[in-house]
Amino acid sequence: MSHLFYQTSQRRPVLDQARGVYMWDVDGKRYLDGSSGAMVCNIGHSNEHVLYAMRRQMEKSTFGYRLHFETEASEELAAKTAALCPEGMNKVFFVSGGSEAVESAIKLARQHALAVGQANRWKIISRSPSYHGCTLGALAITGYAPLTEHFAPMMREMPKIPAPRAYLDGLDPDDPATGAHYAAMLEAEIIAQGPDTVLAFVVEPVGGASTGALVPPVGYMEAVQDICRRYGVLLILDEVMTGAGRTGRFLALEHWGLSPDIVVLSKGFAAGYVPLGAIVARDDLVRAVMEGGGFLHGFTYAGNPLACAAGAAVIDEIARLGLVRNAEVMGAALRTRLDSLMTRHPIIGDVRGKGLLLAFEFMADRDSKAPLPARLNAHQRLVDITYELGLIVYSRRTRDGVAGDHIMVCPPLIVTEQHLDEITDTLDAALT
Ligand code: PMP
Repeated sequence: MSHLFYQTSQRRPVLDQARGVYMWDVDGKRYLDGSSGAMVCNIGHSNEHVLYAMRRQMEKSTFGYRLHFETEASEELAAKTAALCPEGMNKVFFVSGGSEAVESAIKLARQHALAVGQANRWKIISRSPSYHGCTLGALAITGYAPLTEHFAPMMREMPKIPAPRAYLDGLDPDDPATGAHYAAMLEAEIIAQGPDTVLAFVVEPVGGASTGALVPPVGYMEAVQDICRRYGVLLILDEVMTGAGRTGRFLALEHWGLSPDIVVLSKGFAAGYVPLGAIVARDDLVRAVMEGGGFLHGFTYAGNPLACAAGAAVIDEIARLGLVRNAEVMGAALRTRLDSLMTRHPIIGDVRGKGLLLAFEFMADRDSKAPLPARLNAHQRLVDITYELGLIVYSRRTRDGVAGDHIMVCPPLIVTEQHLDEITDTLDAALT
């Protein structure tokens, strides 16, 4: 009998080892990690350079409380991270995961408002569907009812605008008018809420698990940045899933040349080697908070030297192995293969994504975009079959079926064409 409990009572194989893109269970069965866990293990499993850096750090110290000690590892990781962010974004605060990072971004934004005499700014606009984490603050800005509704009124729901799902609304994502149309929803919401009460807009630059790799329409990201600036609303990019090379740029914001106020990182940032997350903020924003009395926030394990040493080694490996470029090249190759699966399997209604953040969505009918009936549980059935066949993919279904069933196909950024063939052949067999 197991003493553990999880989200569901469904049992999974027991993990034994993982190397590169493969994982083995205790019975010796091999799986290709087609989703990098939950889009985490970007540099692959058991990377020797990262393990070496961790071992070296472990032998020196594994913990130093952040209010007692600075550490070389955290200074090094902060410098490496800042160097990869837009000009002026050079203040880094470490945490132990994505939800903690989102909480930290919200609290930093709020403390900034207080520091600059804008105490009435507290509302945070986000999108629906969206996912920003499972802590109560992050849930309040998450637009995903199946996860949030059970906890009301413990948390105060924040205003949401629709995510720009052009493919469901019959709009052309390559037409700038489409981007402008969805961005206008942000401006309308800011005005409806009262512009001087709105603190921030939080957005996943490419949608993650809640939307299934939703790429914004042309012009959308630039337009929301302009709107935020015009109304004095902080722009917070949740790059927990998109960061660390996943979309074919180190940060997804590079696709649009954005310059936000705060960027949120986790997942691929330490690539599954340790729990680690970070926020990176504009220098002047942090300075104002510090002059206003400091950042009243922090977690016990945050910035511990072991996590930071692993994080720094992961950044080095991303550069050494050319993984950002590989994500772009292999992403395009995988996209072509998924498109061809779509031509053979009418159940696939849409293929989308950027770099190696890719997904396909099941539909009952491609033209009307009607989702499959929830009772079919198609996404779970596909996952069960691919498991049998030795491939792990990540699936989601919103309860109301609005986003339908989707499968994220997001292997580690170290994949080769041969791995892509294995993924596609297995998916083809499972779909058949
Ligand atoms: N933001 C985004 C965009 C995410 O995808 C996730 C995790 N799926 C989180 C935040 C929360 O991260 P964590 O699970 O590490 O708390």
